Amino acid sequence: MDQVMALVTNAPSGGAISRRVTITGEPGDILLKPLYTGICGTDRGIIAGKLPFAYNPVGYDFLVLGHESICSVVESDVSGFKAGDLVVPMVRRPGKCLNCAAGRQDNCSDGDKHEAGITGKHGFMREQFRESSRYVVRVGDSSLSRTGVLTEPTKNVMKLFEVFSVISGRSIYPTPDYSFQGKHAWIIGTGSEGFLFSFMAREQGFDTFMTNRHSVDEGRLGIMDQFGINFVDYSRDFDTAVKDIDLLIDTSGDPTTILRFTQRVRQNGIVFLFGTNGRAPDGAMSGVMVDHLVEKNITIAGSVDGAKRHYEQAVSYISKWTHEHPRAMSALITNEEPASSVDPFKRGNSNGIKTIISWK
Ligand code: NAP
Ligand code: ZN
Repeated sequence: MDQVMALVTNAPSGGAISRRVTITGEPGDILLKPLYTGICGTDRGIIAGKLPFAYNPVGYDFLVLGHESICSVVESDVSGFKAGDLVVPMVRRPGKCLNCAAGRQDNCSDGDKHEAGITGKHGFMREQFRESSRYVVRVGDSSLSRTGVLTEPTKNVMKLFEVFSVISGRSIYPTPDYSFQGKHAWIIGTGSEGFLFSFMAREQGFDTFMTNRHSVDEGRLGIMDQFGINFVDYSRDFDTAVKDIDLLIDTSGDPTTILRFTQRVRQNGIVFLFGTNGRAPDGAMSGVMVDHLVEKNITIAGSVDGAKRHYEQAVSYISKWTHEHPRAMSALITNEEPASSVDPFKRGNSNGIKTIISWK
């Protein structure tokens, strides 16, 4: 393939530059052009050299960044795709384990998979790339040419709720009318994943609470308002406001906070660990907490990534939410930057929810 402009790093040592690259021999029956790519904490961690598990593809001394994207098909050698179609490429490529062989590389048993823009596979922050159509998800709704960039983070949400349905089925979890109305979902953290989990909790009928250790800006409160989500600043209101949790989803990765909220999870409740923060201080679990977990049948589960069908579900929900709450969905994307700049990687995310890069 010809040279293309790309945003690259040298994993795992880090750094980010915009430069022309030549990448040859990537398998693929479909040529894609990104319209937008998203930046998340993993990208910032890689360029800061803080993620030792990141590595360059074999034979390269660089790694093209990016695993969140919405792309347009440039040309296709397979039926079912044509130039101009909107698509989202998947992040993970399977290894050799049985889960990977079954298309469930999100549940890889031995860690021998690759992730675009993270571990041994070039990512999507480049002008064009070849992709195998097997790992490409169709986006039928042409109005998702911008918010479709949220498909990748949303597929994590779809998987987690699928695992939730498995775990919650071990007892009579719903209310007497067999809905989740009146049940309480709490989501720790007010970043993009926190919002997407909260939207899905509302879809399921939960009374939904987002929470952080400080107040949040008007922009975030406006999005919550449109989706009917409550907000609690737990640094002020923990004792009075935080109670009767049926579903707790953590996006902070902070053990102390997770344990504090888990104390308020009630019978047959479910705690999902989703956020990761290897630098967070240790949290200590007390004997009282062990009793609480045991006596109340509380499940704590981790959830990572998602399978192709979770991407497909994500596309459906992003379409629904974009039509029902267009202002809120657009407001999730707080920063748009040109593809020529690596500055957005260096900035933190403190003022924004989701930063995207435009390749148009
Ligand atoms: P993000 O924008 O950094 O969101 C993290 C949120 O947690 C922020 O709102 C942050 O608030 C909040 N937070 C941090 N410490 C807290 C505490 N002690 N109490 C309450 N809130 C706290 O990241 P994201 O993109 O939404 O992703 C969320 C997490 O999921 C990240 O850790 C990411 O690495 C992880 N992740 C996991 C998967 C998976 O498959 N499991 C996939 C993607 C991402 P402030 O910004 O105000 O500090
Ligand atoms: Zn595997």
